[in-house]
Amino acid sequence: MIKCLICNKDKKVEFLEEYIVEIKEDKNYFEGAKIYRCDDCDFSFVNPMPSEKKLNDFYKNVYRSENRPPYWITEDYDDRKKNYLNDRNLSYLLYITTLIDIKKVENVFDFGGGDGDLAYALKKNFQQLNLFCLESDSHCKKILKDRGYTNFDNLSDVNKKFDLIVTTHSLEHLADINSIFSKFNEILNPNGYIYFEVPNCPQEYWDGRPYDGPHLLFYTKKSMQKIADLHELKFINFSFSSYSFTNDHKYQHEAQNLYEENKENQLLFKLKNLLKKIIPKKLIYLRREYMEAKKNKDDVKMGWFVNNTGENCYIRGILQKK
Ligand SMILES: [Zn+2]
Repeated sequence: MIKCLICNKDKKVEFLEEYIVEIKEDKNYFEGAKIYRCDDCDFSFVNPMPSEKKLNDFYKNVYRSENRPPYWITEDYDDRKKNYLNDRNLSYLLYITTLIDIKKVENVFDFGGGDGDLAYALKKNFQQLNLFCLESDSHCKKILKDRGYTNFDNLSDVNKKFDLIVTTHSLEHLADINSIFSKFNEILNPNGYIYFEVPNCPQEYWDGRPYDGPHLLFYTKKSMQKIADLHELKFINFSFSSYSFTNDHKYQHEAQNLYEENKENQLLFKLKNLLKKIIPKKLIYLRREYMEAKKNKDDVKMGWFVNNTGENCYIRGILQKK
């Protein structure tokens, strides 16, 4: 019998869907994976989970490798350094600073935050903050160091206490959830906060989704409430966020197609990259700024700034220790 990873019971757990990987080459990391759902927790999860060894290898070496969705990391380090100013990160910043008095926060822990855009942006505005994180991705080590982060290798090594834990789009990549929240509880100061955002996965998510991978856990409002109750946390705010399921599925399809096209046209792709290296940087920046400005006038931009529309594809919230 398969037990739910939140309530630990098997009674209401049933097979839901076959697992779909985003990139065909990733298949060997997620061999035999199927998705099950616990009706009591309104929570879905992969079974069997990939081994720890496979997951560690995937997140350390594959996930953020060059020109791969969702990050499309390029060699341009200056470009990466400016990513903290993107719409998504600014929407996090507005939400957190509205609901939490950051002046009273000292130690921040970014759990699985990649380049650490969020806490870095917080520190730009609240200089008393000390930045810590846990990010095993080899592609992020340099930027995290340059931004002043202390990066822990393992969650079990974390021996500090924090006033705020931020974790955006990480909790859905885990193979277990209760052990992570137990640790959060242990390292959180009394009255400390957790800010999270994850994909919203009710039926609308499953209908017409292009892929699941590499996500392993699929939450809804109800499942987050169950986790909060189990770990003696209370919601300061819960919101549905980001663009609609329809747009989310559309963007996912586009990213998948772009990856395949680049792969098929390796020669053209290499030529493009070569051109980028010869053309003066200034011209590339000018072009990029023009493209960004065009996007700023598009309705798509609103996606990150309108919560609770009834069809948002993500959920976010701020939890506080009871
Ligand atoms: Zn359950």
